[in-house]
Amino acid sequence: MSTIGRIHHITAIASAPERNLAFYEGALGLRMVKQTVNFDDPGVHHLYYGDETGSPGTILTFFPYPGARAGRHGTGQAEEIAFAIPVGALGFWQLRLTGLGLAVERPSERFGERLIAFKDPDGLMLELVEDEAAAGLPGWAAEGVPHEHAIRGCRGITLWVEDPAGTARVLTEVLGYEPGPVEGARLRFVHPGDGLGRIVDLRAAKGFWAGAMGAGVVHHVAFRAADDATQAAVTVALTPHGIRVTPQQDRNYFRSTYFREPGGVLFEIATDEPGFAIDEPVEALGSRLMLPARYEPQRAAIEGNLPSLRPARSRPCTSCSFRPDDKAEPRRG
Ligand code: ZN
Repeated sequence: MSTIGRIHHITAIASAPERNLAFYEGALGLRMVKQTVNFDDPGVHHLYYGDETGSPGTILTFFPYPGARAGRHGTGQAEEIAFAIPVGALGFWQLRLTGLGLAVERPSERFGERLIAFKDPDGLMLELVEDEAAAGLPGWAAEGVPHEHAIRGCRGITLWVEDPAGTARVLTEVLGYEPGPVEGARLRFVHPGDGLGRIVDLRAAKGFWAGAMGAGVVHHVAFRAADDATQAAVTVALTPHGIRVTPQQDRNYFRSTYFREPGGVLFEIATDEPGFAIDEPVEALGSRLMLPARYEPQRAAIEGNLPSLRPARSRPCTSCSFRPDDKAEPRRG
């Protein structure tokens, strides 16, 4: 199953839609490639960030619930999200992020690679890692972020688990990852395919408190399946592990199945097809609220009920509009 595995997207909870947009688009320079609603709860946005076309592996998505309570980092959760940046770009990012008032840890090394770590306004743990292959990937040149330094996409994720054994079996026996080096309590798994999303680190955290869902916490990690047949094969392959997978759900831009891996993290298998250009042209991605067909008749009511989300193009300077101490807006009645 060489067409399975590598990260497709990562989805997290946020507390304030406007601030989320200002941070990921304005400060990090990602492209908002889709502005839609949570298909299971159309009163909440679902914001997708990625590269120019929203290629699989570049996608970070958020459900921003206004006023959402902060989650708790702990075991059974996906924690640090690592973005790939070109070798040599670390200095640019350190200056840029500290200039925006963010607390950025000093550059460090892990498995021989240089990285910086910081948090988003909700406390989501992020890393920028210099990656040899990043310069050759598309990315997205944003205001204040020249293409040579731009984030190329999700390089990897760190899962905090009580006992890494079960998770390791799913990664290697089902999702195509291979065991890599070990550094302290961190076990690295590497996918032999090329491109993004090739790294999953397991951090053995026995005895650490369990995580709780909320703002600043990853909701799930999605892995790539080339098509429906590959996705169905994953369901079959998980059966001997005693893992039940949900029926397929249509997410418009990909089709998804979900399961909880033995370490407690929610995993998704998402098809590469059809992609984000299915309902708006690439040059217009993210510019207006897109709804699945079943919600289209209720568009006016849905739009009227959603919290404000200034369209990117109406702001003179997205990178200036971000302030890390911006207050999350109060919960709507
Ligand atoms: Zn997902």
